[in-house]
Amino acid sequence: MSINRLLFKNSFTSDRISPWICPTCQIGVLIGDKKNITVYEGSGSKTAHDHPGWEPSWIYGGFSGILTCSNSYCSEMVSIIGRMDLIEIYEHNEELDCWETGRYNELTPIQFYPTINIFKINIDVPKKIADIIIKAFSLYWVDLSSCANKIRTVAEYIMDNKKIPKTCLNHGKRRRYKLHERIVLFKKINTDEAEHLMAIKWIGNSGSHQIDGLTKDDILDSFEILEHVITKLYETDSTRIKKLSRNINKRKKPMGK
Ligand SMILES: [Zn+2]
Repeated sequence: MSINRLLFKNSFTSDRISPWICPTCQIGVLIGDKKNITVYEGSGSKTAHDHPGWEPSWIYGGFSGILTCSNSYCSEMVSIIGRMDLIEIYEHNEELDCWETGRYNELTPIQFYPTINIFKINIDVPKKIADIIIKAFSLYWVDLSSCANKIRTVAEYIMDNKKIPKTCLNHGKRRRYKLHERIVLFKKINTDEAEHLMAIKWIGNSGSHQIDGLTKDDILDSFEILEHVITKLYETDSTRIKKLSRNINKRKKPMGK
């Protein structure tokens, strides 16, 4: 499934909060009331007012707030913090038929607690893999390079879970396989998903070389590929569903839970 990039790339205003999905129930939308969002100007920004060339567009600071899940059975509360920048735009005043300067606070998230999911992780994904994906979600907002590295770790964990060897004997000495080599081994049993994991690995490598300048779109590409891979590996061929069907067929009636 494609990720709604507008939700994870764009900034927002306290009057118009992005409809992120609740990380706890995965059903409700996080609702924010303007009065629950505190916006403040940073001290460096205040000091800059004394500069002779100062303009309102120099104003910056931070914000913090609480969002609440719209699902009344859940009502989870999610903390959010981030950066504020004052943005000036030219707006047309219809009544006076003239152009005016409008100002608003642009809010950019840098952390959510609990972390919001960038895609839904199926319950059949092994916990160790799900936990590291959630860590990657939290790093997305604050450090793209670290996030890319964490996604690369997810690929390593998938190789572990699929029992791809970690080491080999080389001239009588044991050495660790590189992730690239493990994915090549995995390709022999699952060509398609190995191809996808290789793409994730390249983006992860880029995260280790800051010079490559990873963008949010690069990371969202990586998350989209990862979502596809884990759906194929842990949902379609889910042993839980297979076991459930086998048990129902054996009983020739519902499980009666
Ligand atoms: Zn909820």
